[in-house]
Amino acid sequence: MSGAGRYAPSPSGELHLGNLRTALLAWLFARASGRRFLMRVEDLDRARDAGCAARQLEDLTRIGIDWDGAPVTQSARGPEHGAAIDRLAAAGLVYECTCTRRDILSAPSAPHAPPGAYPGTCRDRGDEERRAARASIAPREPALRLRAPLAELEFDDLLLGRVRGDIDDLVLRRGDGTVAYNLAVVVDDAAMGVDQVVRGDDLAPSTPRQILLQRLLGLPTPPALEYAHVPLVLGPGGARLAKRDGAVTLADLRELGVGAGEVLSRLAASLGLARPGERVATAQLIRRFDPALIPREPWVWSGATS
Ligand code: GLU
Repeated sequence: MSGAGRYAPSPSGELHLGNLRTALLAWLFARASGRRFLMRVEDLDRARDAGCAARQLEDLTRIGIDWDGAPVTQSARGPEHGAAIDRLAAAGLVYECTCTRRDILSAPSAPHAPPGAYPGTCRDRGDEERRAARASIAPREPALRLRAPLAELEFDDLLLGRVRGDIDDLVLRRGDGTVAYNLAVVVDDAAMGVDQVVRGDDLAPSTPRQILLQRLLGLPTPPALEYAHVPLVLGPGGARLAKRDGAVTLADLRELGVGAGEVLSRLAASLGLARPGERVATAQLIRRFDPALIPREPWVWSGATS
């Protein structure tokens, strides 16, 4: 098999158990199917932190996750992202948007539009109107939005089954010049030869937008590209695991005497791949891994001592 899976962390803080569990699953899906496994640092947001990315990669290595080749740094791929936007623009699929977040919230929404969808305020401006709108927000620059030709789309997910999702005129590039996540992820996955995307199920609602972009750009799309959105890890209060839940990173846990090997063992047990307390190596888990047996419910982390 020649395809690839990947893990694509944003270097906005240390990886916590939820991130590590998702990374482990992405690695297992790829390795168990004979795919390469690739790493991409998603540092497009201004909160870039090279030190943080290095620590994340170190933590992944500590629990036994490896990857092929050097990690790809998303911020170095600006020319490719720009070229993709240019191709969409050449097809008449891009327009300038001068709306602020407040404009969008206060605009009347179109009938039947899903909550939070872009109301289309800037969609059908003529040249003159567009120039005036642009001048009225100077020195701020307009964002670029996709003129989405579809309002919804369905796809098959290896874990969630058939998923239907809404699409609106998503942002491709923000006014400050930052390329949007949805565009970058699609362009980069294709360039890296990724044909299997495994990530947290909080991202499932973004997938229809990404599939639309794949289609419009002529990039690999389902069924040639497979998706598995995996359950999240919850904190003791039932909300998504976060720093406030106490010791949730490898560094925190090490201070409590819980080493990386034990963390891997607990993650593996949570996935039904090890008996509680059993020491395992990631290579062993490949043989035990069966996507059909992944628990479909979130895993609740109630602390290092429980
Ligand atoms: N960078 C995203 C995150 O850390 C993941 C993107 C993806 O896997 O598509 O949440």
